[in-house]
Amino acid sequence: MNNRRPFIAGNWKMYKTSAEAVETAKKLAGLVSGVINIDVMIAPPFTALSQVHEAIKESSVMLGAQNIFWEKEGAYTGEISPGMIVSSGCRYVIIGHSERRQYFGETDSTVNKKIRAAVNNDLVPVVCIGETEKERDAEHTFNILDKQIKMGLEGHSPDDLQHMILAYEPVWAIGTGKTATSVQAQEVHRFLRSLIEDLFGKKIAGSIRILYGGSVKPENIGELMSMPDIDGALVGGASLDAEKFASIINQI
Ligand code: PEP
Repeated sequence: MNNRRPFIAGNWKMYKTSAEAVETAKKLAGLVSGVINIDVMIAPPFTALSQVHEAIKESSVMLGAQNIFWEKEGAYTGEISPGMIVSSGCRYVIIGHSERRQYFGETDSTVNKKIRAAVNNDLVPVVCIGETEKERDAEHTFNILDKQIKMGLEGHSPDDLQHMILAYEPVWAIGTGKTATSVQAQEVHRFLRSLIEDLFGKKIAGSIRILYGGSVKPENIGELMSMPDIDGALVGGASLDAEKFASIINQI
């Protein structure tokens, strides 16, 4: 047994207008109002953050953003600063999602800067890592994760790690309907925890929450959560529907 509190996060990606996001968030808050032993977070698009914050601020559902830029302010057209999302009610931010790496040129080095900016602004970064199908097939999974963790977290102290969450998201399982088996996911989570132990010590390794992400749904969450090193889930598609997302949370 460990005392890591389960964490279930919903990544709404580029879905939902503000009105739609508020409606789903309110519905979700009602459906999980009785849940006291699990942290629940949703990450709507930037445009909906303030309104969703207003809608859920009295509930237990917490708010996160899907990305940030690392600078405080400046001539960076189209970017959003950590302070801006904090002022919109966010406590969390997803960093280094594979879609950001794949379509928007994010690298372990930009991920590193974003994590630093999040920590400096008292945001909890949910740091995403994961291998592609090609990398898994070539048996490079552990090398890739080792590199993503070492470069992404380089320069961070054990103190910084205290307020971080990791999300293992095999790229081949995101939005594809393919889920890593609970055994495959556990193997990677175990590897990540021992890597964190090597880099930041036993205490941090024992307390850091490592989420699994990749086609999580009500039918597979129970099996995944039964694994000793899986502490929660980062859910994409299935978090867009309040009832489906609540049903994932209620299985735990
Ligand atoms: C995600 O967006 O982080 C994700 C895991 O998506 P899905 O659940 O749709 O695979």
